[in-house]
Amino acid sequence: MLEGPDRVGKSTQVEQLAHLLRQRGRSVLVSREPGGDALGEAIRTMVLASHLDPWTEIFLFLAGRARHLDEVIEPALAHGELVLLDRYTPSTLVYQGAELGDEVVAELCSLPVFRTPELTIILDRELPLAELEASDRFESTGLAGWQVRRSRYLSFSHRFGWTTVSGEGSEEEVVLRLLDVLTAAGII
Ligand code: C5P
Repeated sequence: MLEGPDRVGKSTQVEQLAHLLRQRGRSVLVSREPGGDALGEAIRTMVLASHLDPWTEIFLFLAGRARHLDEVIEPALAHGELVLLDRYTPSTLVYQGAELGDEVVAELCSLPVFRTPELTIILDRELPLAELEASDRFESTGLAGWQVRRSRYLSFSHRFGWTTVSGEGSEEEVVLRLLDVLTAAGII
């Protein structure tokens, strides 16, 4: 599962990785949060378009996660597919934890219904100011907000033993780095 702050290249890298792995004959499912199925996409549209209170919001995200796991991810894993996910629990910790408190959000995320991924990768890189134009209400806090989220990703990564990978360099360089990490973890 690939994570990290906005605009570090998560979605691009998940697609690149899937492409390379499929060329090697692996069956790969790419999905994303919020989203990934009809309910998840509806939740995504609703939450991104409205100003809901943070508790309503987190329960919508978590409901979407439970459904996504049940409908999409668990069946794919049962069929032997490799699932590459764009955002998961780390986003909940970073975004909703900032509003509701880290410990209560960590507790909700660790409910047994939410499968722990085999590998959690945080893609990390510096971001030029020019790239930080707000695209949705969550990202409207500019450079300072982005830097806070980046440091929260890095500190959760340290706390939970996730793998941080540099997203600096060309797309090709980054995807090769990710392939190395998947190989070292015995996933491919
Ligand atoms: O992945 P993408 O950038 O398209 O996600 C849309 C937005 O949803 C993110 O920019 C992020 O601000 C927000 N989000 C959130 N809490 C989550 C997951 C995503 O606030 N748990």
